[in-house]
Amino acid sequence: MPLLPMRSAFDLPAGIVYLDGNSLGPLPHVARERIAQTVTDEWGQMLIGGWNAAGWMDLPEKVGNQIGRLIGAPPGTVTAADSTSINVHKVLAAALQLRPDRRIILSDTGNFPTDLYMAKGLIDQLGRQHQLKLVEPEDVSSAIDETVAAVMLTEVDYRTGRLHDMSGVTKTAHDAGAVTIWDLAHSAGALSVDLHATQADFAIGCGYKYLNGGPGAPAFLYVHPKHLDHIEPVLSGWLGHASPFDFDTGYRPADGIGRMRVGTPPILSMASLDAALGLWDDIDVADVRTQSIKLSSAFIEEVERRCPAEEISLASPRDADQRGSQVSFRCENGYPVMQALIVEGVIGDFRAPNLIRFGFAPLYNTEEEVRSAARTLAEILRTRRWDKPQFHARAAVT
Ligand SMILES: *Cc1c(COP(=O)(O)O)cnc(C)c1O
Repeated sequence: MPLLPMRSAFDLPAGIVYLDGNSLGPLPHVARERIAQTVTDEWGQMLIGGWNAAGWMDLPEKVGNQIGRLIGAPPGTVTAADSTSINVHKVLAAALQLRPDRRIILSDTGNFPTDLYMAKGLIDQLGRQHQLKLVEPEDVSSAIDETVAAVMLTEVDYRTGRLHDMSGVTKTAHDAGAVTIWDLAHSAGALSVDLHATQADFAIGCGYKYLNGGPGAPAFLYVHPKHLDHIEPVLSGWLGHASPFDFDTGYRPADGIGRMRVGTPPILSMASLDAALGLWDDIDVADVRTQSIKLSSAFIEEVERRCPAEEISLASPRDADQRGSQVSFRCENGYPVMQALIVEGVIGDFRAPNLIRFGFAPLYNTEEEVRSAARTLAEILRTRRWDKPQFHARAAVT
């Protein structure tokens, strides 16, 4: 098993500790090579013939199956398509169709805003008096009752890394007759997710975080096989049609997961994601999870040992079983502290109002660099090197 870390598989600049792979994974060499090859040999030489000869049309399902292996989804139940935001719209609309007599979409205040915004937009568009009900994360299970059509949650809280009990909540939802939608943006490629075992109805997630597909890489979307042929795609594009090249004037959805496709896939980023997923071929996600817990626990231990408790306090669950693959600390001057860290080569990020956040990706992070990142943080706090005007100015992306 000495596969992890496989740091040499990535183009990581020298001298930095990259703890932001939960926002944008780094560039795998194979992705760089594959993009070049797709551009030069396929687009450049085959032109439109690439759709058949280079297998471009089959990439969404091929990539979907590769992701499926990492999240416990059987072949033919996942497709790579669109963005996570768009996929929220698609699966939530499908979920509401399955429960036509119910009006509540239940989510929590820890969910990522785009999921909530997309739900609100869909509700307005449907105009059928659905309601988005938000509760505190710990109150989700007790808020599930027979009025709830869909429970829509993100497994790992993007701010604190707190984990939901995916199988427990799914079971509670099913017992009340609700369907479940899980956003796996911070789970895929970091945690052992088993969609099949949990019997979740729908799932979505990003291709550019722990899956390293590159900026804006296609997202993914899972539908439980029992629903696949019963949902009417709300975004009924031609590539989700049963027979797009018949050019019928009427829409007929494709069988299976193909119906969740909409339009022409972005082949350059699809190819990049496909290549990046190849890195996982010999990797067992359970080993990744074990290593991720080691990394995040080592970081917490080192930070707490070296940094004054008045300046920084753990915002993530201390119990590793309750935590995803990231650690956040509350820090009063979090924004400038993170900017100073980045300048000194430790890349994490900042989430308002006061969280500094660090993601751990066992494919390339090592325990030594995690401990060194904690030492740098302690030094910055001790010397107040963060307190400079240039570190206080906010950039658009934090
Ligand atoms: C990162 C993230 C997204 C991002 O959605 P995009 O449409 O790719 O911008 C959505 N949901 C969650 C939970 C995320 O963490």
